[in-house]
Order: sequence, then structure tokens, then C-alpha cells
Amino acid sequence: MLDNNIKNQLKSHFESLTQPVELLIALDDSNKSTELENLAHDLASLSDKITVLNNPDIDARRPSMVVHSSLKETYITFAGVPMGHEFTSLVLALLHTGGHASKAKAEDIEQIQSLEQPLNFEIYISLSCQTCPQVVQALNTMAATNSHIKATMIDGALFQDEVEQRNILAVPAVYLNGEPFSQGALSLTDILNKVDAKGAARQAASLSEKAQFDVLVVGGGPAGASAAIYSARKGLNTGIVADRFGGQVADTLAIENFISVQATQGPKLVAQLEEHVKEYDVDVMYNQRAANLQRASNGYEITLENGATLKAKSLVLATGARWREMNVPGEQQYRGHGVAYCP
Ligand SMILES: Cc1cc2nc3c(=O)[nH]c(=O)nc-3n(C[C@H](O)[C@H](O)[C@H](O)COP(=O)(O)OP(=O)(O)OC[C@H]3O[C@@H](n4cnc5c(N)ncnc54)[C@H](O)[C@@H]3O)c2cc1C
Repeated sequence: MLDNNIKNQLKSHFESLTQPVELLIALDDSNKSTELENLAHDLASLSDKITVLNNPDIDARRPSMVVHSSLKETYITFAGVPMGHEFTSLVLALLHTGGHASKAKAEDIEQIQSLEQPLNFEIYISLSCQTCPQVVQALNTMAATNSHIKATMIDGALFQDEVEQRNILAVPAVYLNGEPFSQGALSLTDILNKVDAKGAARQAASLSEKAQFDVLVVGGGPAGASAAIYSARKGLNTGIVADRFGGQVADTLAIENFISVQATQGPKLVAQLEEHVKEYDVDVMYNQRAANLQRASNGYEITLENGATLKAKSLVLATGARWREMNVPGEQQYRGHGVAYCP
């Protein structure tokens, strides 16, 4: 199933596994089940920490594979064969379940650990969807970190009955505890803000305590990142408040003729922007949306959607562009269900 090159790469990644990982497989007599079984055994052949077992749950989707830690009692399920864009999600699920630290921000991990309510996420995807892995990986990180949280990726192509029954027209579509939760791209911080109201209030309180910035940039696209870098280079106390760091390039796979860069990929460019900003002492406030701007006696005050207030002597507004709406009835309601946006 896996070629030798990939096996060699995985073998070296799996050397960082410190805890046992069980792959619980539920199969039927389909070809996809055979593929999944072969994949599970290929993975197990690459590390003595990985074992393949039959899933005892008679209600399990078939074919499916649970990446399970019996030490931490965590469950990450893949219903279907997680190849294509989801192969990375599978590898990360194995690594995180086996004790390899996630790259998520420390405050996000702390917030995940503090969640006490049972959260059962189901994520409908297609294997060719480019935005799906981000959502799957964010929810898998939550499931690998807290045993109250379960995440199941479902390949819509193999589970058509469910897709029809739930009237899913676009992916990724996420259900939480059986109810619709979200549609489209979503970061880990977005998910945490949605499920943890107390966490959002705590975050708002700590943002409001920040000292006045010399320069506060609203917007984390290429323009906002440049403004922040130049301000910080002049020794000014600089912050960025960004609804979504990266801006429009984060939504674009093929970027061409961004001046001085002939061709690259959106997510790669976003990672480079972030790395460049972090070279300097810039306070980046991710996933925060400015809702109101007012003058204050010695500068400006920005109120965020979560109620926090930020103070600054100077402001740079670099809020870029967004999809233009027609303001016709149903436009919001049918977003992702027939209403689509394209440059
Ligand atoms: C599909 C597509 C393909 C493209 N292809 C190319 C290409 O090949 N080459 C090229 O050079 N350019 C391309 N572009 C254009 C390029 O992406 C933009 O020119 C560039 O992103 C503009 O940067 P910006 O920083 O001004 O704004 P944006 O990228 O729009 O960033 C705006 C930032 O402001 C934030 N923001 C907005 N409102 C608020 C608020 N109220 N509070 C907090 N934050 C807020 C957003 O979250 C975001 O971080 C493409 C754009 C699209 C959509």
C-alpha cells in the first residue's frame, strides 16, 4: 500500500513515538476495507509501538480505523481510507497519540486540557479537499490531548447515505454531538472560542490588560505583516490584531507573481510571513476581530468582538479585501450550500 520511500520517511518519524498506539480496525468485504487493512499493517510494520487490533464496537462505521491510546484513553477515528490530503492528518494523529508533542500554541493546549464536557466531533471531508485537513488536524489535536473529546473524519464519498441524510453539500462540514457545528475552514483557536465561552471571556480580560501599543496594526495579511515589521524595527511597541493571520493568501493554493516571488503556495507564504513577523518583537493577537474603533484622549481604542479593548497611540488599518456580498435574501443562510465565492 505504501511505497518504500514513504515507509522509510515514516519509520524515522515513528522513532519519536514514546507510548503505545493501537489501530482498531472495523472492516467489511469491500475493496476499501482491504486497502485500510493493508495500510494499518504497513504502519504497524514501521514501529514496535504500533499494534493492529479488531475494533470490538459492532456499531463502528466500516471501513474505519481508530487511532487509540490505551494509556490516555484517547480516540481519533478515520472512517474511510485517509490517503490523499488526509494522509498527513493520519500521520499526525499517530504521532500525537504516541506521545509526540503537538505544535499547537501552549495556551491552546492548556485550554483544550481544561475542557470537561464530552465533545464528539464528526468531520465530513473529501480526499481532494484542500481546506479539510486543517479542520481535521485541529480536531484531532483536541482529541489526542483530552479524553473527553473524540474526533471522527468521515470520507463523504464512502458514506453517501450519511451525507444525503444530513444534506451535506460542501466540505469540510463539522457536527458536534450530532448537531451542525461549522462549515468551511476553521482554525484550532476558532474551534476553542466556539466551544469554550469561559475561555473566550478569560482571553478578553487578559487582552484588555495589555499596555498601550505605540503602533497597533489591524489585519494580518501581507500588508499588516509588513507594517508591523517596519514598526518593530524602529523600536516601537507593536501589536497585530488579526481575524485570520495570512489574509487572502491563506485561501489560495497557487500564488503567482507576488512581487519577487514567481510562484509559491498560499499556506507556505503564510508560514513565511509568520516566521518573518516573529523575528521581531511583535505581539500577534490571532483570531481576534476588531469590531469598533474610537478616539481616546491619548490615541485610539479598538474594541474586539469578544469585548476586549486594546489601546494604541497609532493605528494601521490593513484589513484588505473580502468577498463582496449582494445582500439578497438567503445569501448568508445558503453560504456553502450553493452560494459560493470566487475571484
Ligand atoms: C483566490 C485568490 C488568489 C490570489 N492570487 C494571487 C497571486 O497569485 N498573486 C498575488 O500577488 N496576489 C494574489 N492574490 C491577492 C493577494 O492575496 C492580496 O493582494 C493580498 O492578500 C492583500 O494583502 P492585504 O494584507 O492587503 O489584505 P488581506 O490579505 O485581505 O488581509 C487582510 C487581513 O485583515 C484581517 N481583518 C479584516 N478585517 C478585520 C477586522 N475587523 N479585525 C481584525 N482583522 C481583520 C484579515 O483577517 C486579514 O488578516 C489572490 C487573492 C485571492 C483571493
